[in-house]
Amino acid sequence: MHLPAVDGTHHAALESWVESANASDTDFPVQNLALGVFRRRGSTSLPAIGAAIGDKIFDLRACFDMGLLDVLPPAARLSCTGWSLNNLMGAGREIAAALRRRISELLRADSALRPEAALVKMKDAEMLLPAEIGDYTDFYASVHHAANVGRMFRPDNPLLPNYKYLPVAYHGRASSVVAGGAPVRRPSGQIQAGGEAPVYEPSRMLDYESEVGMFIGRGNALGTPVPIVRAEEHLFGFCLLNDWSARDIQAWEYQPLGPFLAKNFATSISPWVVTADAMAPFRAPLERTTADPAQLPYLQSDWNDASGAFSIAIEVWLRTARMRSDGISAQRLSRGNFESMFWSPAQMIAHHASGGCNLRSGDLLGSGTISGPGEQSRGCLMELTERGTKPVQLASSEQRSFLEDGDEVILRGYCERPGFRRIGFGECRGIVEPSSTL
Ligand code: MN
Repeated sequence: MHLPAVDGTHHAALESWVESANASDTDFPVQNLALGVFRRRGSTSLPAIGAAIGDKIFDLRACFDMGLLDVLPPAARLSCTGWSLNNLMGAGREIAAALRRRISELLRADSALRPEAALVKMKDAEMLLPAEIGDYTDFYASVHHAANVGRMFRPDNPLLPNYKYLPVAYHGRASSVVAGGAPVRRPSGQIQAGGEAPVYEPSRMLDYESEVGMFIGRGNALGTPVPIVRAEEHLFGFCLLNDWSARDIQAWEYQPLGPFLAKNFATSISPWVVTADAMAPFRAPLERTTADPAQLPYLQSDWNDASGAFSIAIEVWLRTARMRSDGISAQRLSRGNFESMFWSPAQMIAHHASGGCNLRSGDLLGSGTISGPGEQSRGCLMELTERGTKPVQLASSEQRSFLEDGDEVILRGYCERPGFRRIGFGECRGIVEPSSTL
């Protein structure tokens, strides 16, 4: 089994011959090597897989064509020639790790080769979805989020009895997952606004949810559960995810089967996938207290208890249309950390497969809204404004209870730990467009 480990690719002193990758504030130093799919802007060239390095993209198909990947096993080098990361995801963690080591060798400052012809400026590229996503599942793994939302409806008993026994989730919609940067149209739907019958109108309570997305690597066969100790073999990497939510549509439609149109109109993800290997230095213990119930054996392992969580700071920034026209920069609304989740990625995968469900390469799991214990770490407006009753004040002297047309939501994520190089996720952006009429 391939266990994620800190190795030479994470060494803090490593620098790259791509100068911008050595800037202290870059998300993409040579220790990160996030993967994505891009196309040269304004050209007819086919999409290609690339690795982020500073403000440039290292074109892996160009590397293949130049013979720079010939030292790798065929499965590793051929997976770099496609138009999505699915083949690489399906090849397994050992193959992804071998590719990471090779890209690191080629981009280090002490590399014998400097294949500049394989570099593309990020500003000259359009980022596409990193994978063909067959299925998308959204979890509810932040106990702070679940408690905050539960408290609004059940002040005396915020957490439902199942919460600390299983990672609650619902099956989402893969067809409307879009790469960050794509506009998001405000949905219309049935809203129970106080009359006897609901009305069909544009949502008035449009919200974001700041989450981490997880891509499935190698899949599992139908009918074959995944043991918790092997769950991370099926975890390829992480991105940022905005699970746009229409709270008024959700409130009317969600019983008894859960959210439907309130969430399936759009889900934005950041285009760069930070691999599970890149995350090795940023692991953390699972958050549990002695008051929490014992974990059922299929969801528990000592490794998971000690280091199943991942430390990723997640920030939400907002910029309204007026802020853009007045030249006011985006304003940070919250900062949370993925480390504070009650359930780890390994537990989400093990639970998802525990009934025999097959996960496939390129499937996307959302973590659920990431909120921490403090008010500054509430990961959606529903929590931040307490259902709209305490609007957020903006630098433009505007207020927001929920999102208005023209608002841009920007998620940012990064990992920091003493002794290691900071790595980041880039951004997940989306501007709200007015609803379309029937
Ligand atoms: Mn969600």
